Amino acid sequence: MQIKLVNLTKAFPGDVKKNIPDTIAVDHLNIDIKDGELLGLLGPSGCGKSTTLYMLAGLKEPTEGEIWFDDEEVTQLEPQKRGIGLVFQNYALYPHMNVYKNIAFPLTNMRVYSSKKAYKALRYQTILDILADPNKLIASIKDSAVNNHIKRDSAVRKIQDVYDVAESVAKELFSLNLHTYKDISLVIDKIIDRYQKKLTEEKERLKAKKIRFNDCYEILDEQDNVIKETRPLTKDEIDCLVTEASKLVQINQYLNRKPVELSGGQQQRVAIARALVKKPKVLLLDEPLSNLDARLRLQTREEIKRIQREVGITTVFVTHDQDEAMAICDRIVVMNEGHVRQVGAPQNVYKDPHDLFVAKFLGNPPINVFKGYIQNGLIYIGDEAVLNIDENNKSLDVLTHGLLSETDEEKEEVYVAIRPEGFLFGDEITDDDFLFHAQVDMIQPSGKDISLTCSHPDFIGEEQFKILLDSDAEIRNGMATFAIKKSKVYLFDVKTEKRVYLDGRDKK
Ligand code: ATP
Repeated sequence: MQIKLVNLTKAFPGDVKKNIPDTIAVDHLNIDIKDGELLGLLGPSGCGKSTTLYMLAGLKEPTEGEIWFDDEEVTQLEPQKRGIGLVFQNYALYPHMNVYKNIAFPLTNMRVYSSKKAYKALRYQTILDILADPNKLIASIKDSAVNNHIKRDSAVRKIQDVYDVAESVAKELFSLNLHTYKDISLVIDKIIDRYQKKLTEEKERLKAKKIRFNDCYEILDEQDNVIKETRPLTKDEIDCLVTEASKLVQINQYLNRKPVELSGGQQQRVAIARALVKKPKVLLLDEPLSNLDARLRLQTREEIKRIQREVGITTVFVTHDQDEAMAICDRIVVMNEGHVRQVGAPQNVYKDPHDLFVAKFLGNPPINVFKGYIQNGLIYIGDEAVLNIDENNKSLDVLTHGLLSETDEEKEEVYVAIRPEGFLFGDEITDDDFLFHAQVDMIQPSGKDISLTCSHPDFIGEEQFKILLDSDAEIRNGMATFAIKKSKVYLFDVKTEKRVYLDGRDKK
């Protein structure tokens, strides 16, 4: 399912009497979401992510604009009719229901339009099909054993896993006790005969009632057309859907537990199963990981990615955590104050931020921003030339041979932003590199790299900034000399804060 947001806007009215202005939570948002894509809405608190998600879900009405699901405009459509699954950060499970009932809950009022079937005959046929290969059934049951001990519940689950049948069918198959016989050939024919007889009797009964059906046990009308009906789901159908959803999120061994008996990550998986059990066309996730501890967050975000891939469902994921969005989303939308600032694959947005906001928002530790300027193809921080950005000009000569005054160009003030990993130190610096000096205040080794907390008079920001070096760098507190990696530097206009594109690397 493709989703299109066209000029989507949400204004929350203020209060004139109290002098509270309207809040434009979402301001003319235009986003195209591809079929099967996992799209992350990312931005600081209050940027309008959740409001956008709730408008997609139909829980908040847009002030202006349109929402399209494929070729259907759904802007005014009720939430239940949109075919969406929604997962909130607080799981919202029913505490008095076990996992099975929680997942099954959305199905209880569901009505389906499908072919009318001869269910009893279909059930006997399913059992006969499975009994045609009794050794496979026995192997499945034995496979469920723990320490050579076969437990009924585990065996029933295993049968469901292998054959995709309802729990009641699996229980019936287990109760035949085929796994207890030394020589199956002595009993299997008798059992098959018994089911064959039941099936024949059922078919006779249907015939006597003049009910006609095809090979799939679908009931036919007088012109041999399959009869369709709108009906609630049968118990077996609910069971198959719950089993399928719980298997998908790997929670099927906990179906009898109450939510309180599960970890936070497991509860969130139940919530995802519940959102998926109706087979929605769109999955909406609102900060689904924020109640989990750090380890579970990592694990569960991978799970979400796997589940989304397996189902292939178009998914919108709201988060304020950039690591989360970068790790699992196909594309991210960076939002601020109700506007889209940039859309793209996470790595592309990180590598090619279009403005200072995006550059500062993505990256951990954040990008370091300094006051500086460009002159004669050189980038200055304060009054120190730190980088030659035009290999063709004579900038280096200009600087080293004192020719600056003859070729002096206007200074163009810019913000110079450097990623923490964009600094060279020690042997990494060559004779051709320009240098950058900063005060190292603290050194923290962290396994694969060393994190330096530094200060510099032209650094913009309340706190000190971070430099990441290789773990083998030998550095001490105090003034230190670095060079700067060209690929990790971005320049931004001081007025518009838009990216300044300069040389072959940057030019657009
Ligand atoms: P967070 O990450 O904190 O959940 P968010 O990006 O999801 O933030 P929204 O919840 O969409 O942000 O809110 C966007 C803006 O709309 C905020 O300024 C918020 O205060 C405002 N807002 C949200 N709901 C209402 C409301 N019912 N009435 C008035 N203003 C609202």
